[in-house]
Amino acid sequence: MWTMLRACVCALGSEGVRVMMESALTARDRVGVQDFVLLENHTSEAAFIENLRKRFKENLIYTYIGSVLVSVNPYKELEIYTKQHMERYRGVNFYEVSPHIYAVSDNAYRSMRTERRDQCILISGESGAGKTEASKKILQYYAVTCPASEQVQTVKDRLLQSNPVLEAFGNAKTLRNDNSSRFGKYMDIQFDFRGAPVGGHILNYLLEKSRVVHQNHGERNFHIFYQLIEGGEEDLLRRLGLERNTQQYQYLVKGNCPKVSSINDRNDWKAVRKALSVIGFNDDEVEELLNIIASVLHLGNVQFGAEESGNAYITTDTQIKYLARLLGVEGSILKEALTHKKIIAKGEELMSPLNSEQAASARDALSKAVYGRTFTWLVNKINLSLAYKDDLYPLSKNASVIGLLDIYGFEVFQQNSFEQFCINYCNEKLQQLFIELTLKSEQEEYESEGITWEPVQFFNNKIICDLVEEKFKGIISILDEECLRPGDASDLTFLEKLENTVGGHAHFVTHKLADGKTRKVMGREEFRLLHYAGEVNYNVNGFLDKNNDLLFRNLKEVRALGLTVLFCCVNAHHTSSLCCSSILTQCFDREELTDKKRPETTATQFKNSLAKLMEILMSKEPSYIRCIKPNDAKQAGRFDEVLIRHQVKYLGLMENLRVRRAGFAYRRRYEVFLQRYKSLCPDTWPNWKGRLADGVSTLVKHLGYKPEEYKLGRSKIFIRFPKTLFATEDALEV
Ligand code: ATP
Ligand code: MG
Repeated sequence: MWTMLRACVCALGSEGVRVMMESALTARDRVGVQDFVLLENHTSEAAFIENLRKRFKENLIYTYIGSVLVSVNPYKELEIYTKQHMERYRGVNFYEVSPHIYAVSDNAYRSMRTERRDQCILISGESGAGKTEASKKILQYYAVTCPASEQVQTVKDRLLQSNPVLEAFGNAKTLRNDNSSRFGKYMDIQFDFRGAPVGGHILNYLLEKSRVVHQNHGERNFHIFYQLIEGGEEDLLRRLGLERNTQQYQYLVKGNCPKVSSINDRNDWKAVRKALSVIGFNDDEVEELLNIIASVLHLGNVQFGAEESGNAYITTDTQIKYLARLLGVEGSILKEALTHKKIIAKGEELMSPLNSEQAASARDALSKAVYGRTFTWLVNKINLSLAYKDDLYPLSKNASVIGLLDIYGFEVFQQNSFEQFCINYCNEKLQQLFIELTLKSEQEEYESEGITWEPVQFFNNKIICDLVEEKFKGIISILDEECLRPGDASDLTFLEKLENTVGGHAHFVTHKLADGKTRKVMGREEFRLLHYAGEVNYNVNGFLDKNNDLLFRNLKEVRALGLTVLFCCVNAHHTSSLCCSSILTQCFDREELTDKKRPETTATQFKNSLAKLMEILMSKEPSYIRCIKPNDAKQAGRFDEVLIRHQVKYLGLMENLRVRRAGFAYRRRYEVFLQRYKSLCPDTWPNWKGRLADGVSTLVKHLGYKPEEYKLGRSKIFIRFPKTLFATEDALEV
């Protein structure tokens, strides 16, 4: 009987083996290998890229490195996301089917169910590589394949519909991607004991607010502005005082790019309206939200002239009229607020006039703040709608979570500023997490288990994370210090301080050389960080302002205080004309003004939110999806080798492969392994009386494991290839 069983093991496992062998041998020349681990020359980057290229040509966009999924953006619709495909991957072992994002999704789901461990799927890659599309595909997979009831269906719909809303308000056309996410997103999907999705929660990171008031050539503002103008019904536009012409609005003309061929704003508008109602926004809330969007457009059109004294006055009364109506404030107050700042002299509050330049920048600061806070409000509102609501069955017990992280990839532009600094710092942190969770922990485990092991060298980027975030000495601390220092603090004094404090750091460079000479290739306003993914020069221009977040830091001095007060409705003179927007009243919290504590700077807030994110991710079992962008032209079928090589390098794929090749795909504690498979061997069934390690050894020999397929450590068995374990799993089901 046991021999028969063994034969079954081989037979049942053979599908998986066959798939691997097929790609490994017969079809290899044409379609490459589906797991880089099978590459003959696994240390060669050229062989790695060649394998990617072969597969890409055959529309095989997914390839594994062990359990990590590498995905190349096809830039065309492939017939691989149908319901039939979903069914094919549902409940099937990873290696028995060809690589797919559904396999990763299903694997995470099954691990969550069987091992009762929270999961997270980390999606990384540069702008346009396909992160957001990947996260949507995962969500769709769960929406279709997980059990459903009427109530669960509502949650599924809301989870799915949160995407068009967040994309309308948080995505924009950039040079790199027609639908670029300008914020980071982490979404938890909560599952109940039956494995049905019953709730969700979204955390958002650092929206690129500067886009509201300025776009580079060829780029657009956030989609929602164009959708509203192109798709909004006639009477809605009339109520909002908007014309159906995006080019009428200063905030929409900067990039000189009103239309994008791949985007249909009018259709998208319909989708967003529908999504808002699925999520549970009532008509009043939608109207109020659109009032704010329209107000931002009107604000952008407010122009200033200069009186003889130099004081600013408003030249565009129509805009004020609309703004006053939409925001429910008196026009005269609005005018005063836009052209004055509040100062406190000898304990008395005074309105001091601004010049036209100051007024314009206060106006922009206000627009950014209004938009940014409305976005946060929107996320909170979506969270309320996604929150698990069944009081009868509290979720805490037996509930599990799968988290999806879709966050901006490493960015290098011609000019890099504070935003790129934050984004690249975020990527350093994610790389750290990757090292902690895979490279380092993997190697440490072999050591502690006494498994013979050829250590793999990898660069640990902790040194760069410390350079940025260390208390008192790190770049963020130094930046904060300059932001808080009264007097002559400026972007350049910040740079000087950096030079004095971290100038000698191995990953920090400025134009100054140690011998007092200057490095010609670098600007005097720049510092360079040697990131794990490559070198980036940052121009310090604007660092202090952006970190201070003008409007809200040091409220007493901020020039736009009058406006803040207006929206906070706490200005004693103006209480009679309370701002009637309840969204804005919620966004601009009264307490913020009365709170004597300085609000945290942007960089510190970001650092803290990243630290929390790392904690969340560390507590879960990760799966990785590494997205690659095949060309800069956003074209199907083009495989730009130089561009791809760069991404392979900074995604750390070769290191990943080296560790994977040298390592073992699976490990199980002896007692767990024995308990699960003891029935497959007469000597271990029903109970093994001796040492656990001996029991496992007896069991695997009986199952026909070859010596090169496994190793026995101090407390665990290590299995090199997944197929070995899958065959054993299948045998259980006989
Ligand atoms: P960003 O960091 O700018 O937000 P991203 O990595 O999220 O970029 P996506 O928006 O997901 O990039 O993808 C960019 C575009 O590439 C999509 O709008 C779509 O046209 C195309 N694309 C990405 N993945 C796929 C896919 N699997 N199938 C077909 N097209 C895809
Ligand atoms: Mg995206």
